[in-house]
Amino acid sequence: MSWEVVIGLEVHIQINSKTKAFCGCSTQFGAEPNTQTCPVCLGMPGQLPVLNGESVQKTILTGLAINADINLESRFDRKNYFYPDLPKGYQISQFTVPLVDGGYIDIPTKDGEKRIGVTRIHMEEDAGKSMHEGLEAVSHIDLNRSGVPLMEVVSEPDMCCADEAIAYLKQLHQLIRFLNVSGGDMEKGQFRCDANVSVRHPGEPLGIRAELKNLNSFRFIKQAIDYEVMRQIELIEDGGTVVQETRLYDSVKGESRSMRSKEEANDYRYFPEPDLPPLRVSQAEVDAIRAGMPELPGALRKRFEGEYGLSPYDADVLTQTRELSGWYEQLVAAHPQDPKRCANWMANELLGRLNEQGVDIAHSSVNAVALAALINRIDDGTISGKIAKDVLDAMIESGKTADAIIEEKGLKQVSDTGAIDALIHDIIAASPQQVEQYRGGRDKLFGFFVGQVMKATKGQANPAVVNERLKVLLAG
Ligand code: ADP
Ligand code: MG
Ligand code: ZN
Repeated sequence: MSWEVVIGLEVHIQINSKTKAFCGCSTQFGAEPNTQTCPVCLGMPGQLPVLNGESVQKTILTGLAINADINLESRFDRKNYFYPDLPKGYQISQFTVPLVDGGYIDIPTKDGEKRIGVTRIHMEEDAGKSMHEGLEAVSHIDLNRSGVPLMEVVSEPDMCCADEAIAYLKQLHQLIRFLNVSGGDMEKGQFRCDANVSVRHPGEPLGIRAELKNLNSFRFIKQAIDYEVMRQIELIEDGGTVVQETRLYDSVKGESRSMRSKEEANDYRYFPEPDLPPLRVSQAEVDAIRAGMPELPGALRKRFEGEYGLSPYDADVLTQTRELSGWYEQLVAAHPQDPKRCANWMANELLGRLNEQGVDIAHSSVNAVALAALINRIDDGTISGKIAKDVLDAMIESGKTADAIIEEKGLKQVSDTGAIDALIHDIIAASPQQVEQYRGGRDKLFGFFVGQVMKATKGQANPAVVNERLKVLLAG
């Protein structure tokens, strides 16, 4: 009997607001431990939280971008649990009425687009961090992260394999960076995923799920889900039953272990947060946020395919971030004759080199106007496409313009028929055997002569002119 896999994801996203969710402390990553704290985020009794408006706006923006409903009145609740990194003993979250309800994200699958439902997006605050590394017999607590604003995006159990889960996460990750609501840096914990996984036979009701925590890279998420699916199927086929539990994935061992089962599960005893009034936003505020929404990745991709004739692959690469798409549009503005060639030079040549060096486009030493100038030098015959790649290397290294490098290194393409004819005459004189064989019908030798001319000109002869002149002069 066949198995069906069911996956629902909960994603915690750090909102990139300058200050924390309920106090004025900085959210800057990487500061000395406990230097960005105050009585509110340290959980001192009697301190009152004041809600950060920017994080509300960014959560609404995210909701609008996934076609969700915005609740004009939502509520804050306390999620109570004990942990050393949570000094208040509770986390402020939204339980009964979240700010954002519903919505969806369309993902690419091998059978075309699939719509994944989003249940809700609610606001909450992050906890601090326990530090164990380099310490013996003690742990330290850093509360800089305590109170950093988060939004939690909860999906419907609509995904049916690890690949779909990853596709959903990638769409969401791209979206939040496009909207500039989060840096999305997974290594810094700005985008964290819990995966709920169950299996069933087709037509049966939902199976019992396990929740996988501690997933901080796309690769581990896929591995952890695949492992969990196998574990559950084997367990059931061996006559066992899946229990509802939280499991931790160990990426080194490639397996997961139980962290807590339903019986020991946290009973959070949510209750209304008495220190914060209901959150009210007006329809006018929501409309204003909608009006300021940037063009979203999906629309941009379609426009790049339609307006510029890009392949789906190139359109996808160039719309990964707003920096990339903006850079590409500057390039096209500077070289409007051939948007496809622009895409090729940017995606394959420039980005390929920058990726190798671990540099992102925002820090590229070559800007869009400079790359357009290089492409222009191919168009006007000054250099060949092959030489242009060397020029690009030098541009990246030195930050100089294409013209300066072509001049400096004497790379100008030789298109002058007289000079090329003279070279060909020399080569013909030096290779009597080859000439005889070619004239006797060995057409393949034509490449030999092209190679000789290129060698003599260090690749700088105009290939079209070389071909044409060789045909004429070799004919005898
Ligand atoms: P909790 O509050 O315990 O985390 P929720 O009902 O909010 O539980 O569900 C959390 C996530 O689990 C959601 O993303 C939901 O889609 C997913 N989920 C619920 N039931 C299942 C199931 N049987 N199999 C897989 N995922 C599920
Ligand atoms: Mg959960
Ligand atoms: Zn504070």
